[in-house]
Amino acid sequence: MRRPRGHRDQVQGARSWLRHIRRHFRRRGLGNWREIDFEEITIESRLAADIPSELLEEVGRLIEGRVLSYDEVRSLLEQRHVISPYPLRDLLQACALAGKLEIWPGVISPLEGYHICCRCGERQQLETIDCPLCGRSGCVICLACRSLGEIRSCRELYYGSLQENSNSRRVFPGLTPQLEFRLTRAQAEAAAEFKGYVATWLNDYLPKDPRQTTGTQQSGLTLPHLFRKMSHDATSCLIWAVCGAGKTEIAFEGLALAIAAGLKAVFAVPRRDVVLEVAKRAQAAFPELSVTALYGGAKHEPVGPLVVATTHQLIRFHSCFDLAILDEADAFPYAGSAMLHRALQRAVKPGGL
Ligand SMILES: [Zn+2]
Ligand SMILES: [Zn+2]
Repeated sequence: MRRPRGHRDQVQGARSWLRHIRRHFRRRGLGNWREIDFEEITIESRLAADIPSELLEEVGRLIEGRVLSYDEVRSLLEQRHVISPYPLRDLLQACALAGKLEIWPGVISPLEGYHICCRCGERQQLETIDCPLCGRSGCVICLACRSLGEIRSCRELYYGSLQENSNSRRVFPGLTPQLEFRLTRAQAEAAAEFKGYVATWLNDYLPKDPRQTTGTQQSGLTLPHLFRKMSHDATSCLIWAVCGAGKTEIAFEGLALAIAAGLKAVFAVPRRDVVLEVAKRAQAAFPELSVTALYGGAKHEPVGPLVVATTHQLIRFHSCFDLAILDEADAFPYAGSAMLHRALQRAVKPGGL
C-alpha cells in the first residue's frame, strides 16, 4: 500500500475507505448515518513528537526480544524504575511508531472458528467467551498458556523489536569457565566435542562484516516467523548422559565460546528449583558475568549474556537468544508439550543453535 504523504493524501485515503464502508453498510440495509467532513479534522501529530526519543529508546531496550502483555509491560517498567509522564498506552503506541515494538492482538482469528494464540502459538485449546472487557460474545481466550496470565483477543501483546547491533554487544575475550573440580576424562572429551560443535556453528553464524548483526535479520514480524519450524533454520546438538554425569559443566566451555563472542545464551531447565541451582553453578563458573535467573514469580530482570530459565518463561521471549541449551529434554513439563517446544524454537534467533 502506498504511504500517504501529507494531510491531503490522508484525507483522500480516508474518503476512499469511507466509500468502501458506506457500500458495505448499504448492502446490509444500514444506510443512515451522519456524514463527517474530513477536511475539518486535523490529524494530531503531538503524540509521537512530544515523547522524547531517549524514553522510547529506553522502553525499546527493556522490551527487546520479549513478548509481554500490557500488565507485564507495566510491571516491567515499574520494576526498572522507568518514569514516564505519558499514559502507558500512548507511550507504547509511540514506541510502535518508532519501530521499537510491534503490537499484536492476544489471539488472532484468521478464519471463522480458527484461532491462534499470539503468545504461545496454541491452535486447539482456545475458548470463545462472552467477554466483559470488550463486550463481544466472540472474544477468544487461550487456555494453554493461561498459567502465565490470561491472553485474549481484545487485549494487546507487545513484541519488542531487536535493537542490537554488533557495536553494542559486550564481548568477553578469553572467557573460560572456572570449575571447582576437574572434569573426568569422559567429561572432558564430551566438553571438547561440544565446544568444537559450537565453534563450527559460530564460524557460519557470526557476521563476516563487523558492522552487521548476528542471525537472519527480520524486517517486521510475521506469524510464520513467530512460530517457525526450528528444523528449517537452526542447528542442534544432543549431549546424552545419565543424570548427575555433569552435563551442565560439560556444556560450559561451548557456552563460554559463544558468550565471549558477545552472544546471548539461555539454559532452559524444567523447574524453578533447578533454575536456582544451575544459576548458582553458572555464576560460580563465570564470576565476570551477571547470570540472570528467570522463573515464575521472579522479577523482570534485564537479560544478560547468560540466562537460566524455566522452559515456561521462554514463552515471554522471541528471537532473543543466539544459543539455547535445553536440560532434561525428556522430563516433565517439556516432554510432550507442543507449547513449550514452540516457545524454545521461537526464543532462539533464526540460525541460532
Ligand atoms: Zn496461549
Ligand atoms: Zn474481549
